[in-house]
Amino acid sequence: MRCRRCGERRGEYERPYAGDVVCGRCLVELVRDRVFREVRRWRWFEPGQRVVVALSGGKDSAVALRLILEYLEPLPEVEVIALTVDEGISGFRDRCLRQAERLVEELEVEWEVVSFEEEYGFRLEDVVEDTEYPACTVCGVLRRRLINAKARELNADVVVTGHNLDDEAQAVLMNFVKADLAQLSKLHPEVKPESESVVPRVKPLRRVPEREVRWVADELNLPYHPDPCPFAESSVRSFFRRLLDELEEELPNAKFGILQALDRAGPLLAEEFLQGEVRACERCGEPASGELCKACEILEALDQR
Ligand code: SF4
Ligand SMILES: [Zn+2]
Ligand SMILES: [Zn+2]
Repeated sequence: MRCRRCGERRGEYERPYAGDVVCGRCLVELVRDRVFREVRRWRWFEPGQRVVVALSGGKDSAVALRLILEYLEPLPEVEVIALTVDEGISGFRDRCLRQAERLVEELEVEWEVVSFEEEYGFRLEDVVEDTEYPACTVCGVLRRRLINAKARELNADVVVTGHNLDDEAQAVLMNFVKADLAQLSKLHPEVKPESESVVPRVKPLRRVPEREVRWVADELNLPYHPDPCPFAESSVRSFFRRLLDELEEELPNAKFGILQALDRAGPLLAEEFLQGEVRACERCGEPASGELCKACEILEALDQR
């Protein structure tokens, strides 16, 4: 079958939500256009900015880095720095790091690496057994804190992450089910971080299905580590991932629909539910909903092991 877009090359990639099949080159162009449209829509970048791209060594952040470099190329005096966090997950993150290194060399981007071991004094895999927090909670909260601290140190104006459509739809649904509408509203691109100490995070791939991100990474021959993290299956998120994939089989537009609901309702939810929620953590001064921020709460629990 021929590509529905160019009519020339062989159609290889099926897009059920669009009802078509496209070739590799057209897929890359379609994804690039969608990412660039999203970037312009929310006005994420301007000349003179320092942009930090959180690079994990997986496909998503590889594609995000590659496309954002292309987008930013014509903007004057923009600096891009890739930032990788080594949480300490043997056989996984070390392999991701090697791919990240290949990518930044290929793309000629400045690269910084920070680790849990240096910053917190432990590797993730050495503490997950000793705490009631799920591995992904410890990992996600402490990684976010580290990325923000390093981005601040680097004087970054914005942090780019590789979250794709599937990630965002899962996050919306998870917060919805927990009835955490404040947290849900924070996923909206225009809802500002709760404090000046948080560097704004942007997600250029938020409208690109995960499957297409992988295809684009392969089409562009980007180096990335393809295997999932060994802790991924145990997370609550993986349940929502399966649920949404099943839903999508019946309703090909389901994930886009969920994102659109967020885009429409996010600011309203923020106005209604985010008010007065922010306090400063007693220990580190970062935004917190109780006395301690989530990161300090986790670090304290780990200290008491
Ligand atoms: S799957 Fe969980 S433990 Fe693994 S890198 Fe992601 S957040 Fe961390
Ligand atoms: Zn084509
Ligand atoms: Zn704190």
